[in-house]
Amino acid sequence: MDLFHYILLWLCIIGLCFGSFFNVVILRSLSNESIIFPASKCPKCQHKLFWWHNIPVFSYIILRGRCYFCKEKISIQYPIIELITMLSFALTFIKFGISYKTLFVILWLSGFIIMTTTDLKAKLVDCNIAILIGISGLLYNFIQTGLDGIISSVLGLAAGAVILEVIARLGYVFAGTRAMGEADTYVAGAIGAMFGIQNILPVLLYGLIASMIFIVPMFLYNQYKNGNKLTCILSILFILTGLVYCKLWMNYWMMGVLILLGVWLSISILKNIKQEENRNYLPYVPALALGALYFIFFSVNF
Ligand SMILES: [Zn+2]
Repeated sequence: MDLFHYILLWLCIIGLCFGSFFNVVILRSLSNESIIFPASKCPKCQHKLFWWHNIPVFSYIILRGRCYFCKEKISIQYPIIELITMLSFALTFIKFGISYKTLFVILWLSGFIIMTTTDLKAKLVDCNIAILIGISGLLYNFIQTGLDGIISSVLGLAAGAVILEVIARLGYVFAGTRAMGEADTYVAGAIGAMFGIQNILPVLLYGLIASMIFIVPMFLYNQYKNGNKLTCILSILFILTGLVYCKLWMNYWMMGVLILLGVWLSISILKNIKQEENRNYLPYVPALALGALYFIFFSVNF
């Protein structure tokens, strides 16, 4: 086996172990979560686990997703996080090879895996992780281009945080509540520090597109159920216009139409949020994470 494949193999194993560790971190972040499994004990029957019950992914498969003793179901989250972490580590190495870039990207993706999961599960995000990513972003840009890198990184941090904070606070105007959680501001700041002022807008745009892929179908379904026809129609028009803009006519006219529809749709959505009894933030960290992921792996500017 050559050096490349040797390192790749080890990164996969390390990735699985880190994924297992991230599962524990995720559970700790969600303190209201009571199911701690796989720990040394089964949460239901309290039976002590054997060593081979704690191997990432393989234990889940061997045990067929159930406790060895009492047959209580083990959450599918565990093997999924382990596999995603393994894939992140491996793909990063395949893309960037033996370099400090690989180390930074692995650190960033790890943070995003934890924040995305807690955001999706409980709309809770540990802002310290975003701060850590932000600081590492400053360091990364300093190594890349010295003082210019630091300046670009600091400006990116400020721009990312300010843009998201303004969008979040626009929610007060329309809905009397923040449009997004505070964590999104931290995460956008971190992304700005990672990619610098020259790249923050494209990355936020990728995040916006990613959010539409996930949030819009879910939201549309809710709107449809509640009988808000205008939002449904506007959403479909917005998505179609977006597709036409990306695939056929990328010009200022289409962009103008897209922005107009976007604003109208946002107002319609926010109005509906105002009427709803149970107000909730949209989980936006996953979208920002996907935007960053796309930029890291597919942009020539990274
Ligand atoms: Zn059990």
